[in-house]
Amino acid sequence: MRYLILLSVMLIVGQVHAEEKPVVVTTVTIIKDMAELIAGDEFEVRCLMPIGGDPHLHEPTPGDARMVTQADLILMNGLTLEGWLTELIDNAGGDAEVVTVTSGIDAIESQTYKGSSDPHAWMDVRNGIKYIENIKDSFVALKPEAKEVFEFNYGVYKKQLEDLDDYIFKAINSIPERHRILVTSHDAFQYYGKRYGIALESVLGTSTDAEAQVSDMTRVNNVIKASNIPAVFVESTINPKMLQQIADDNNIKIGGHLYADSIGKEGSGADSYYDMLKHNTDQIVSGLTGTNQDDTSAFTEDSKTPSWILWLVLALMMVAGFFILSNSLSSK
Ligand SMILES: [Zn+2]
Repeated sequence: MRYLILLSVMLIVGQVHAEEKPVVVTTVTIIKDMAELIAGDEFEVRCLMPIGGDPHLHEPTPGDARMVTQADLILMNGLTLEGWLTELIDNAGGDAEVVTVTSGIDAIESQTYKGSSDPHAWMDVRNGIKYIENIKDSFVALKPEAKEVFEFNYGVYKKQLEDLDDYIFKAINSIPERHRILVTSHDAFQYYGKRYGIALESVLGTSTDAEAQVSDMTRVNNVIKASNIPAVFVESTINPKMLQQIADDNNIKIGGHLYADSIGKEGSGADSYYDMLKHNTDQIVSGLTGTNQDDTSAFTEDSKTPSWILWLVLALMMVAGFFILSNSLSSK
């Protein structure tokens, strides 16, 4: 009985202790992953966007408002990515500090919306390193007594990201120069292209909140014809139909699935920021060097010629052959 009481006390104390952890709320899964790696066990890290969700089109829920109210710190990307966040925070209230993790980054101007910034800065790993530096600094400000933990985790992570930056550089360089063109659904890869030396062409603009026009399809088709690239790429958060149409029209492949605005599910090979960029790079290299397996199986079933047509053609050829043969025999 004494042990039982002791156990209950320990459980209650444990629970109270767990609830005491400061809560860090992130907007997108990429920032959540970074924050968890820097935080270790010091904070509880939560995320407003689900894995695979599209942050451009997110509509806040009552659950989001609760999360914001409970937050001690909110980490956002900024650069126009989370247009819905200010209103959410205003409505939810709470006293969380809001930190923009892209602070100090050299932003690229949006290709679609002149005068506003392209939000996809994480695609350049040097920017990713700036993200984790800003996250680390915000954590030190929130809990100075754990500064050493944050500094240590940051140091290890930074080294990994520097190696990743090198890896991507070399990988993209291995693609023949005339094929270094990345065709995707939306314009999420400008930072990636600028840093690693690959030209970009997308059907939609910087946001997914737009309909593709016939002129967009024609423009992309012309680029594919002129460059003779062997593959185009679909994105995990966007319907692949449009890109499948382009691949079919040009008789080329879907070179793979890229993760642009969210990390992948567990087991996807892209379930962290690091793995997402490595996965994307490997897909791009194998797709554009023509070394990948056909990744279109899920979408191309109806493009195959049905087998009954082949049988009909064969039967007609046999009938025709029979007539020719009998004609030539009877004319003798
Ligand atoms: Zn995007």
